[in-house]
Amino acid sequence: MVKMGRSKFKNNLFVFYTVLFLILSFPAFYYLYKQDKNRRTKLLNENLGEIARLVENYLAATDTGYEDFEALDFLKGILPREDLLLSVIDTSGDVLYGYSEEETISADNRDRPAEIGESLLNGTATSIRTPNGMDGLYYFFAENFGDHIVRVAVPYSSDIVEFLKSRHTMFLTIIIIFMVVWYIMSMLTKNFTNSITRLKELTNSIRKNPSALVRSSFPEDEIGEIGREIIDIYNDLMLTKEALAMERKKLLDHISALNEGVMFFSSDKKMLFGNDRFTTLMSIMTDDKESFSSNILARPEFADVVEFIDNNRIEAGSKPSELPRMEYQLKNKGRFFEVQCVIFPDNSFEIILSDITKIGKNKLIKQQMTSNISHELNTPVASIKGYLETILHTPNIPVEKREYFVMKAIAQTDKLKDLIADISALNKIEEKESIVKEKVVINDIIREVRENFEASFKQKNIGLHVDIKNDVVVFGNRGMIISIFQNLTENAIKYAGDGTTIAISVTHDDKKFYHFSFSDNGVGIPDEHLGRIFERFYRIDAGRSRKTGGTGLGLAIVKNTVQAHGGKIVVRDRIGGGAEFLFSLPK
Ligand code: ADP
Repeated sequence: MVKMGRSKFKNNLFVFYTVLFLILSFPAFYYLYKQDKNRRTKLLNENLGEIARLVENYLAATDTGYEDFEALDFLKGILPREDLLLSVIDTSGDVLYGYSEEETISADNRDRPAEIGESLLNGTATSIRTPNGMDGLYYFFAENFGDHIVRVAVPYSSDIVEFLKSRHTMFLTIIIIFMVVWYIMSMLTKNFTNSITRLKELTNSIRKNPSALVRSSFPEDEIGEIGREIIDIYNDLMLTKEALAMERKKLLDHISALNEGVMFFSSDKKMLFGNDRFTTLMSIMTDDKESFSSNILARPEFADVVEFIDNNRIEAGSKPSELPRMEYQLKNKGRFFEVQCVIFPDNSFEIILSDITKIGKNKLIKQQMTSNISHELNTPVASIKGYLETILHTPNIPVEKREYFVMKAIAQTDKLKDLIADISALNKIEEKESIVKEKVVINDIIREVRENFEASFKQKNIGLHVDIKNDVVVFGNRGMIISIFQNLTENAIKYAGDGTTIAISVTHDDKKFYHFSFSDNGVGIPDEHLGRIFERFYRIDAGRSRKTGGTGLGLAIVKNTVQAHGGKIVVRDRIGGGAEFLFSLPK
């Protein structure tokens, strides 16, 4: 239920009706007052006229007639009103009897009471005034009887207060009418004010809790309809706002999770918001931990951005089909960064920073790979071409010589085959083609490798010492694990030197890995090469490596294979000489 007192609208309506009521009732009231006054005056005139005529008749009836006015005292004594002023005045103005105001009526009618002068002219006259030497108003009535005037006066109190006092019922009636009218009005406007009050309550509740959906019932009238419309529009707005806030949150979450650093700027180049990654990349890129506390656009790294923004301001109202965008790269301490800038239609803009070191490095490595591969392929192809041309252009070449060249050419094709096999092996590992894994007993692998190199071991007098228990079982791709031991063994045979010993052992194991040592006691690897030995096509002595049939990819294949299994590999100088490879393979 709506509380009436709280409705300002209702109060206003009440004031409006009250004022209207007063405006309308005042003239009516005034008219009644005038009417009443006239009626009372008429009545008074009649009464006083009768008294005047009574006095006149009395004077005429007494023996003494107009000589002795003392008789009038008697008459006055029996008249009902005590406050009556009675006087008889002759036409020259002398007071013959009664109340004297010491008035004299001068010949030119000046200085005499109005009623006297008028009665001389009109026969009767009245006036309302305060008699000389007395208080209060009196109503004077004078009648001219030829040679004298009889004047009667009574206190006059026909003021408004008296009138109001004497009109209790009338006012009560008016007030009751007013109340009834007010009640009817209030009933008629009840629904109307109800709707207005609800509207007011609605706006109050919206103000108190601006983001909540609102519910309110309105009466079935026009205002109620407006109220319902407002609620619908407001709720739609709130839902849209909520959806927008969700989208904004998603966008902000997305921005903060980005691998790129993003910072938004206002059109007057003030920082608005950005992600943490931007701060991180800024400090790496500028080498300045405090870079963020200063105006970052003033930094030399962003000079191009500022110039771009100044030269590409979008005119208000124009909708460019494509947003102005620029990008450039920066390098700091071996790291590569990309700076991008996009200007939005309102001339606000964003700067995106990305660390492209990996991409940059990969690109570099790919370039080196391609040139290395073509170089490596070129060498055997050139040799084969040379042998074949020699055979072709040398007529009458001895059979043995020709056979020798052909054998050489075949050896080079084998080398080519090896090279291609190694490159494709590396590619396979790098592309992480699904590796089929199984339990692999390491001693079985080593046995197989020993059998493969039996002849070489004998030929070069190389010993193989294995200290691995039979229960050492790794989980991996059998072919790939063989390639690890095969490559390392082949290298030891090729580079360690005759009469050396290869030692393979498990140094320790943990929950996930077995840690292996593969060493020889040969020439070893000079320290300056240790760091690069796993690079593709890296050789210590290119001539010797080629001669021994090395492709320069053996150790790269070993390293990638170990890594593809989740393990690690390092190389070091073996104590007592030779090279030692330490690597881990999963259980
Ligand atoms: P390659 O096909 O030339 O053998 P690798 O990648 O297998 O290529 O080896 C790279 C280089 O490392 C070799 O050229 C060789 O000089 C050196 N190297 C590898 N293993 C040994 C070792 N056990 N002792 C000495 N040097 C080695």
